[in-house]
Amino acid sequence: MDTKEVILSQRTRLGLSQEQLAEKVMTTRQAVSRWENGDTLPNTESLKLLSSLFDVSINTLLGSPRKLFCQCCGMPLDEECMSREPAGEFNEDYCKWCYDDGKFIYTSIDELIDYLVAHVPHGYPDEQTARDGFRGELMKLDHWKE
Ligand SMILES: [Zn+2]
Repeated sequence: MDTKEVILSQRTRLGLSQEQLAEKVMTTRQAVSRWENGDTLPNTESLKLLSSLFDVSINTLLGSPRKLFCQCCGMPLDEECMSREPAGEFNEDYCKWCYDDGKFIYTSIDELIDYLVAHVPHGYPDEQTARDGFRGELMKLDHWKE
């Protein structure tokens, strides 16, 4: 879905008029109308407010231009498994199993690798190969890059 469709469908879901939505995200009815016509995109501040009001990620509001992966463990991110900041807004970089309540769950890459080796099915022939394989993949993610 494009931004304009996401905004229209979420506004309808909440039973809001364009006017009411405009009030909630501190803009004008004309601005909402332009978003829904696809004439303009919400600015960064409006995106944050819409994300919070609709409870959808900014990536979804933008029409899902990026395929999101947790930058700690590498799992694909959708709103179901996306982490949140303590105040409730989405953190689009991490899954909720790696980041919760403002804190990272795994304090070292080895701790995460221990978990993955024990819990995630993999095609590696033995544990050491699996560890090396997981480490190689994880080192490509932002959280573990040096
Ligand atoms: Zn994760």
